[in-house]
Amino acid sequence: MATGKRLFGTSGIRGVPGEDLTPEFIAEISQAIGTFFEEGPILVGHDGRHFGHLIANNVAKALMNIGLDVGESGLIPTPALQYCVRKMNYIGGIMVTASHNPPKYNGIKVSGSDGIDLTRNEEIIVEGIYYEKKFRPANIKAVGNRFHETEAISTYVKGILSKVDIEKIKSRRFKVALDTGNGAQGAAAPQILEKLNCKLISLNAEVDGDFPGRGPEPTPDLLKELSEAVKTHGAEMGVAFDGDGDRSIFCDEKGVVHYGDRSAALLADYIFSKNPGAIIVTTVSASQAIDDIAKKHGLRILKTRVGSVDVSNAMVEHNAVFGLEENGGCFYNPHIPVRDGAMTTALILEALSNSEDPFSDMLDALPRYHQAKIKFECSKEQVHAIMKNIAVTAKGKIESIDGLKIWVGEKTWILIRPSGTEPIIRVFAESDDSEKLNSLMSEYSKIIKEILNDSV
Ligand code: MG
Repeated sequence: MATGKRLFGTSGIRGVPGEDLTPEFIAEISQAIGTFFEEGPILVGHDGRHFGHLIANNVAKALMNIGLDVGESGLIPTPALQYCVRKMNYIGGIMVTASHNPPKYNGIKVSGSDGIDLTRNEEIIVEGIYYEKKFRPANIKAVGNRFHETEAISTYVKGILSKVDIEKIKSRRFKVALDTGNGAQGAAAPQILEKLNCKLISLNAEVDGDFPGRGPEPTPDLLKELSEAVKTHGAEMGVAFDGDGDRSIFCDEKGVVHYGDRSAALLADYIFSKNPGAIIVTTVSASQAIDDIAKKHGLRILKTRVGSVDVSNAMVEHNAVFGLEENGGCFYNPHIPVRDGAMTTALILEALSNSEDPFSDMLDALPRYHQAKIKFECSKEQVHAIMKNIAVTAKGKIESIDGLKIWVGEKTWILIRPSGTEPIIRVFAESDDSEKLNSLMSEYSKIIKEILNDSV
């Protein structure tokens, strides 16, 4: 098999339009994907990034050229496209998105007929077809058809509403601050919340590839406007999505924005109280709060590498009800085992509607750990040098499911992990003791900075 560098990262192929995502590359990789699927129809959609519609058009044309039919959803959140692929009987889906990456990026994410991202092995098969250029032959007499898939958003909205207790949520008439961050959930989430009788305070609602509001990544420190809106309007909850709408970050009624694993822990607690015997899937970077909750319910918890594909596949393999990532990605198998920001929001509203307590009290009742995150930009060589150095010098029990997770006590760990999509190293740490956390973060930040300075 002809080989070259891996094209798929942690979550699809990412690049900069006009630099690495050229029209030629898009055409050839789309033909490779179409050849892999063998037949259509394939559902193609895009988020609100610059050139998204143009890339989606190139993808559609390339698929039609090799004889595959193409449904075009236009602007759509990633989880909506994935849900529609499965629900509307497509053979596969291609989503043009770069999720939470900076505005200059775009990318391609491929789902199979079950709506779940291709497995690592399937990605490698696609890459093999691409490098060997063994595309399905084009035949001018057998060009595929294209059609607008006009029912995609409404199908998604109905799908989510069918998985929650609509009447119970409606009866509470929640006031919700909704920050779609100029991203693709602007096309679906407002409809879902309005059908749940929520009174909306909308922020950054306009879909815009520059993400002028607060950028495409909803990190808690960037959500001050959401926090203020919740407080000013007396909302019971605030929610912010990433650029393509598969991740959600929540703000309680006091205006406190929580890391994704707090809301995910709350949902885990809620869902598992309703599903005795269920299995949770999470990643090696998730909070110990999840372990504590699993223990409380006597449930099994499975840990995978960081990456939504790994969580989805483990959920299917073990028939898990719920999956979660520390970044706010939640996967609800009765809907579809991929992360979905709007499904997560509807579930949080259902949990709130079943509780007498305000959101902040529900979150406060969960096990709490101190956490810190930092990221360092570095080249591939620097990544290699850093990981090698830490593997040799680290003191503590090391887990190497993904990157290096170093336990320096029963309740204290630090995870050093190269990103699969960007030239950065991510460092996460967690402890039940804030002083231990701070000293651990400074110790490893110092090591990483020294290696970066030495290699300049
Ligand atoms: Mg995303």
